[in-house]
Amino acid sequence: TYSLIANPVHEGEEVIGAVIVLLDITEQEQREQLRREFTANVSHELKTPLTSISGFAELMKTGTVPQEDVVDFSARIYDEASRLIALVGDIIKLSELDEGGSFASAAEDVDLRALCEEIRDRLSPAAQARAVTFSVTGEEVRLHTSRKMLEEIIYNLCDNAVKYNRVGGKAEAVISRSEDQKVMLKIRDTGIGIPDEDQQRVFERFYRVDKSHSREIGGTGLGLSIVKHGAAALGIEIRLESREGVGTSVTLTFPPELIV
Ligand code: ADP
Repeated sequence: TYSLIANPVHEGEEVIGAVIVLLDITEQEQREQLRREFTANVSHELKTPLTSISGFAELMKTGTVPQEDVVDFSARIYDEASRLIALVGDIIKLSELDEGGSFASAAEDVDLRALCEEIRDRLSPAAQARAVTFSVTGEEVRLHTSRKMLEEIIYNLCDNAVKYNRVGGKAEAVISRSEDQKVMLKIRDTGIGIPDEDQQRVFERFYRVDKSHSREIGGTGLGLSIVKHGAAALGIEIRLESREGVGTSVTLTFPPELIV
């Protein structure tokens, strides 16, 4: 798409020519379109849990809900409110990333294995609930980078490796070093996998392969877009490989300049 600006050039009263400016606004327009889509999606995603919170609260307000349902209704209100908190948190992170990453903390030395182990421990209640075993293996590596952003990236990937696993499945974070001194972290699961045609799109905001399943297990649909933007900000390469029904593996490759 081009925008045309034409200005006449005068010599005294006489028009002797024109300056024509052609602007390529394709990118600008696409960005605008994405922004509109994002706003529409956010509104929808916020409205769904709010409608349900308001509905249950309205019923309870009447005082006629039988005692045995009160606990159940309260639990649903709590779940929906938790979803809203997660969603708003992710939206804030994404908007900070868009604005150039104030969300990244100053670079510091990070022990990659210890960080992965910490994340595994944070996820252990969720992993236990699905009988998923989560292991962290590989080399000791220290990276010099934003700990907060790196933690966010790895947490989102490990969270998915647990959430989209099968009951009794395996999740693994493996750290290795290549011959050309790059460090790799592979996060692998034995879960439901991602169909070929969705593999590029899962990094888009709010894109989910199975909307109802993802909602049921509490996803915001923003995790992988935070991963993508965060990794780009830190100079980390991402590769996703997946086979439906077999599992998914995401490899992060850290450039030599991040390695201490
Ligand atoms: P969500 O909050 O829904 O998990 P993400 O942005 O993290 O959002 O992921 C987007 C979608 O990609 C998910 O809804 C799911 O359909 C798919 N997905 C992500 N990670 C995995 C995985 N490890 N295995 C299978 N599907 C996955």
